[in-house]
Amino acid sequence: MLHKFCVLKLNKLTQNNIIMNITHIEHIGVAVKSLEVSIPQWELLLGSKCYRIEEVESQKVRTAFFKVGQTKIELLEPTSPESTIAKFLENKGEGVHHLAYAVEDVDGSLAECEEKGMRLIDKTSRPGADGLSIGFLHPKSTGSVLTELCEDKNK
Ligand code: ZN
Repeated sequence: MLHKFCVLKLNKLTQNNIIMNITHIEHIGVAVKSLEVSIPQWELLLGSKCYRIEEVESQKVRTAFFKVGQTKIELLEPTSPESTIAKFLENKGEGVHHLAYAVEDVDGSLAECEEKGMRLIDKTSRPGADGLSIGFLHPKSTGSVLTELCEDKNK
C-alpha cells in the first residue's frame, strides 16, 4: 500500500516537472584566459584535436570546441573586458562556466520554463556558436549553475 502511494506520488511529481525534452548534455562551457594556452592542454587531456575555433561577436568571445562522445567541451576566451566571460574570469578565475542541454525546441522550452516561474536570461533564442540556436536560464532557477538550452537547427 505504502509502495503504491509512493509510486503514485512520484509519477505526479515527475509529470509536474517535465518541462522540456532534454536529449543530452550538448556541451560544457569552460572559461579560459587564452585559447592559445588552453587548447594544447585540453588536446592533451582529451586525446583529440580541437575541431573548430569561432568568434561570437555578439557575446565578445572566441570559442574552441572538442568532442567527447556526443557531448562537446566549449572553451570561451573573452575578446573584450566587457565580455561576461572577462567578468567571470575576474571574479572566479578559469573553470566551468555553464552547462548546456540539447533540447528539441529551444523557444518552446524557454517559454515553458518561464510559464513554470523560472527566471530566464534570454526570453527568446539567439544564434550561438557552432551553428546552434541558444537561450540561457538564470542560475537562480537552476541550482546556481548557469544553464544554456541549445537546439541544432540543422538536424
Ligand atoms: Zn555554451
